[in-house]
Amino acid sequence: MAKKTVRDIDVAGKKVFVRVDFNVPIDAEGNVSDDKRIVAALPTIQYLLDHNAKVILCSHLGRPKGKVNKDFSLAPVAKRLKELLPDKVINFAEDTIGPSAHKAIDALHDGEIALLENVRFHAEEEKNDPAFAKELASLADVYVSDAFGTVHRAHASTAGIASFIPAVAGFLIGKELDIMGKALEDPERPFIAILGGAKVSDKIAVIKNLLNKCDCLIIGGGMAYTFLKAQGHSIGSSLLDSDNIGFAKDLLKEAEEKNVTMLLPEDHVIADRFDAEADKKVTDGVDIPDGWMGMDIGPKTAAKYAEAIKKAKTVVWNGPMGVFEFKPFAEGTQKIAEACAECGGVTIVGGGDSASAVKKLGFANKITHISTGGGASLEFLEGKILPGVAALNDK
Ligand code: AMP
Repeated sequence: MAKKTVRDIDVAGKKVFVRVDFNVPIDAEGNVSDDKRIVAALPTIQYLLDHNAKVILCSHLGRPKGKVNKDFSLAPVAKRLKELLPDKVINFAEDTIGPSAHKAIDALHDGEIALLENVRFHAEEEKNDPAFAKELASLADVYVSDAFGTVHRAHASTAGIASFIPAVAGFLIGKELDIMGKALEDPERPFIAILGGAKVSDKIAVIKNLLNKCDCLIIGGGMAYTFLKAQGHSIGSSLLDSDNIGFAKDLLKEAEEKNVTMLLPEDHVIADRFDAEADKKVTDGVDIPDGWMGMDIGPKTAAKYAEAIKKAKTVVWNGPMGVFEFKPFAEGTQKIAEACAECGGVTIVGGGDSASAVKKLGFANKITHISTGGGASLEFLEGKILPGVAALNDK
């Protein structure tokens, strides 16, 4: 069911509580060192200001573990926000609730902003404590959710608050739900899912869900070796999730039964140890000799994967194809990023490592959508209900 967005409600003159993701890095001088997440929230904020709302911004920053810790203060974010919106009034409240929050909000005229201090200074936030959620709700008339990175968590400011006041999606969440929702519910075909990363166990639920939806499943990264082992190949000292060999076998069978093409590496870049400086070579075929480990998909595999990706109409990618943090083993991930960039269809990159790889390689503007939430996008692909989305009002 589609969720209401800021466009579906009247916000003029209203106090609008916006849960944003201002969880940004702060440098040693106490300045925001990367403001991408703040910039990403501006369209929703600007829309609300243009429509004469009083905007109350709430976020977490880091993990202060339920205690006030000035190292995790949002004061540097307030400073950066003032630089980004120089002609706007921005009141910073030194607490998320209580007198200082009320004071900052009561002083607002329409089209002005209050930024509340780190919501995770209160242990009740992560416990989704109803009394705390009610207190947050008492600050505003309407709730807007725009922090996709936290919608998979049922916290007071991401879910609980929505039981007390009308709750709608901001533009960031709206885009995530539209694009990823369409890919999962009604994808243009062929629909290819690319999964990589270290562990099979992390991706089991995603693979299971995607096997019911996609036409082709491409596996790379450390998780591929468990599948190859399940097929009886030798994998040397490559990463192995030995508890999940049986599961990998079942999945290969399930893919066959469901007519989903499953592509596994046919060659590899191998190393004699887990090190950027290790001796490396490319295998002739699938098998890896003893004493060597698979660190990246090989060139034959990368070319085959790229060819399939370029023909797809919908691509969802989560997880690198190799140990891309080490330059000598980044080429497979790079080739896949390139293929996604060249694909004319809808391309979606899940958060986390694959998202940073795509950005680092300079392909970000050629991808339809890079999800802003690693954990959240993975749970979305698993077909799970995200508490912060479920809590929003239906259209
Ligand atoms: P994940 O968080 O599960 O998406 O995994 C990302 C991590 O998987 C990255 O840090 C990669 O270095 C790692 N990874 C990818 N391929 C391999 C591999 N062949 N061997 C060991 N680690 C890998």
